Amino acid sequence: MSGDGQSLRERFEAAFMPNYGVPPVALARGEGCSVWDADGRRYLDLIGGIAVTSLGHAHPALVEAVSRQVATLAHTSNLFLHEPEVLLAERLLGLLGAPARVFLANSGTEANEAALKLAIKYGRSRGRHYFVAAEMGFHGRTLGALSLTGKPSIRDQFGPFPIDVRFVPYGDADALKNAVTDDCAAVFLEPTQGEAGVVPPPDGYFRAAREICSATGALLVADEIQSAIGRTGHWFAHQAEGVVPDVLTLAKGLGGGMPVGACVGFGEAGTVFAKGDHGSTFGGNPVSCAAALAVLDVIERDGLLDNVKTVGALLSEGIAAVRHPLLRGVRGRGLWLAAVLAEPRSAEVQAAAQEAGFLVNALQPDAVRLAPPLVIDEAEARSFLDALPGILEAAHG
Ligand SMILES: *Cc1c(COP(=O)(O)O)cnc(C)c1O
Repeated sequence: MSGDGQSLRERFEAAFMPNYGVPPVALARGEGCSVWDADGRRYLDLIGGIAVTSLGHAHPALVEAVSRQVATLAHTSNLFLHEPEVLLAERLLGLLGAPARVFLANSGTEANEAALKLAIKYGRSRGRHYFVAAEMGFHGRTLGALSLTGKPSIRDQFGPFPIDVRFVPYGDADALKNAVTDDCAAVFLEPTQGEAGVVPPPDGYFRAAREICSATGALLVADEIQSAIGRTGHWFAHQAEGVVPDVLTLAKGLGGGMPVGACVGFGEAGTVFAKGDHGSTFGGNPVSCAAALAVLDVIERDGLLDNVKTVGALLSEGIAAVRHPLLRGVRGRGLWLAAVLAEPRSAEVQAAAQEAGFLVNALQPDAVRLAPPLVIDEAEARSFLDALPGILEAAHG
């Protein structure tokens, strides 16, 4: 069962489909914001399993909640209900503060599949037959969510898709207005585009989307799979915009590393599905629900939204203050940032950061993503800022 990093990478390559390539590091364990690789080398984890590891690694509250629940009742299926799922749905509704209903899934793409099926059903009974989504938007890899995903390189080879999706440039409210008519069933949007490179829209864009949807009767689906659960310093990014969507999808940070997704329907959208319309054997399983409850409890108890704002600002301002020809700037909010490069050398920056003991993510050729655990402290953030000029210099070649 043991193996050093290099031999694990060779065995990975031989045993797995090549869809991920071979990842550069074999991780063995973690604690807080630190992870150790199979050779015992320590790194500061500044990507958190893609904005997932909200509480950091091996957080005592998460360990306790998951261990207790797996030893009590690990699975029921949806033939039976259980208290952790009821508590989680109630907790989400409390944080959202508006009348709504919840469906629980296992992942982001499944949360969006639920939203899409809901929107198809909503649209059919009203003669609304097409969908609008944003260019470069990301909504997942299963066929429904992929059909809404606006990145040609991952979408086109699997089309054509059975639903009519019309793409608009992200951030352009006029283009959105022109695309959404009384025949449109739903608009799927990220409040800030994540996989596209942590790209916030111009101020007021999400509010404009709300107004356009309300005026035409199309559902506004906010894909907050990456942006929610404290990532931007708010429980949900849409709360900072002062708008309420019709449908909200969640996943990544919600379970703190355990797989869980949610699709929330507000008002009328909460009762579009009738009995038998949708389901998932594992969705809302007790262990994932216990994990999510622990995540939400710790964020509240430890004031992590404030930590996200404080340490996020420190990181963002610290990156912006670095003067280096390879660095153009920084975008994003809270603990969800992209260092923007002047040249397409993000792979080199990721490799140089790894060499210096920091895990970051080469998200786009010119964008390096940081999405560390919400518990990261100022000293940890400073250690990265201190190392950044040297990392950029090494990557500059
Ligand atoms: C990650 C992500 C998804 C897909 O989530 P999976 O759990 O990988 O299926 C969907 N939408 C957004 C905005 C995401 O960031």
